[in-house]
Amino acid sequence: MIAALKRQLKTWTLWELFQGLAITGKYLFKSKITVLYPEEKTPMSPRFRGKHALRRYANGEERCIACKLCEAVCPANAITIESEARDDGSRRTTVYDIDLFKCIYCGFCEEACPVDAIVETRVYEYAFEPGEIHVMNKDMLLAHGDKMEAQIAADRAADAKYR
Ligand code: SF4
Ligand code: SF4
Repeated sequence: MIAALKRQLKTWTLWELFQGLAITGKYLFKSKITVLYPEEKTPMSPRFRGKHALRRYANGEERCIACKLCEAVCPANAITIESEARDDGSRRTTVYDIDLFKCIYCGFCEEACPVDAIVETRVYEYAFEPGEIHVMNKDMLLAHGDKMEAQIAADRAADAKYR
């Protein structure tokens, strides 16, 4: 009975409408949080998972040792690796392809890699037209890694503080 009366009273006084208007009023004069993308960007986590890259060591040697853990762990079967032994006895990939149409950006490849070779960078502004190549091959991945290395290293250092 009392609950029903309360409900009626709220209806007659437009209580819920004023509640909503109070929230609107609360934010009316606060600074706006709309971002004018692409000129402005929101902050990004160092763990952001964008376009892939293959890293090198400081001496220029590629990190990847062709262990194929990333290929095995990838739930989307997006990674294709072929490898062979070099003259010095070390094993390196001859083919390293990532199909970006298949990839679901889960980050498993990055987590599985024992030498921090395959990483996902902050780059997310890319697209493919129909008919365009959507597979990143080894050269493309290494070139992207070379370009992004400073940012990748900084992100790794920032992330290490929270582990
Ligand atoms: S991010 Fe996930 S889906 Fe994409 S290549 Fe790596 S493991 Fe595969
Ligand atoms: S990228 Fe890492 S996990 Fe993948 S094959 Fe190379 S070393 Fe192994």
